[in-house]
Amino acid sequence: MIDLATFEHPAVTTINGKHWFHELSEEAFPGQAFSLEIEEVLYHTKSAFQDILIFKSSKFGNILVLNGIIQCTERDEFAYQELITHLPMFSHKAPKRVLVIGGGDCGVVRELIKHSNVVDNITMVEIDDMVIQLSIKYLPQMAKFHNHEKVKIVIDDGFKFLSNLSQVDESEKYDVIITDSSDPEGPAEEFFQVNYFKLLSNSLRKNGIVIMQSSENIWLNLDYVSDLKHKAQKVFPNVEYSQCYMPSYTSGQLGLLIATHDVENNLKVPTRDITEENEITDKFKYYSEKVHEASFVLPKWADSQINK
Ligand code: SAM
Repeated sequence: MIDLATFEHPAVTTINGKHWFHELSEEAFPGQAFSLEIEEVLYHTKSAFQDILIFKSSKFGNILVLNGIIQCTERDEFAYQELITHLPMFSHKAPKRVLVIGGGDCGVVRELIKHSNVVDNITMVEIDDMVIQLSIKYLPQMAKFHNHEKVKIVIDDGFKFLSNLSQVDESEKYDVIITDSSDPEGPAEEFFQVNYFKLLSNSLRKNGIVIMQSSENIWLNLDYVSDLKHKAQKVFPNVEYSQCYMPSYTSGQLGLLIATHDVENNLKVPTRDITEENEITDKFKYYSEKVHEASFVLPKWADSQINK
């Protein structure tokens, strides 16, 4: 067990005898820091790719932090995992082959398994096996389907994996690609560039859909979000920005970019009837048909910049 009294980490301080984690990043969140009270540090290491900290908080359950940035908390992870998964899955008529880039906590895989009646196989490409192993141990509810029969986990750089896909036959490409990566400050840097959208485009089957977390949000860096959308629009003719709210992401909001070459597909409404999949609808805590549609509605000032 790690002794909190002697534990040293640049983002951990003691205030009035209580231990706090501060999400500090001059690059990503200048002038602000979200803090959570630590009950117990469960694990801390530097893997080959990043600093990994896992702690038990007083109000948010177990928390995974990579390079000082919160990746998920047991209390609110469902919001993000459900939206990033079910937006593209219900916007596609028949998503058979699904690829997840990143996603080491396996929360997206857990959500994809709710589509087992339509999905044939799910491939997850994660660069850092340690994130997966630690999630199995400390985030068991998220990682519970890591060894499901439809799931194949590849330990590799997602960018490299996609680069190798451009020459493959259509049958080996994907209907839905979900980029559940960490932020650009670290091994996910290349995911936020035009070249990445080109790779995604080459890896999709006809009418395929991609979605990615957009790192910043409308309160934090509106210019970054609209620039990212413009980068996606250089490759895809149909791109939309959706937002998810949850307390543990900076400013309480995280944006998702969803895109397809199919200009007839209105991504803002589910294509498949979610009530037809009765056995899964009661498994959603965040996602619903109304939430799908509402997630694309932006406040006026943000809308005028992002959707101009
Ligand atoms: N939901 C989280 C968020 O929005 O902050 C992301 C969760 S998931 C833990 C992010 C994963 O992306 C990490 O496990 C990280 O190792 C992985 N990752 C980062 N760069 C990668 C790369 N180049 N290839 C594959 N996986 C990568």
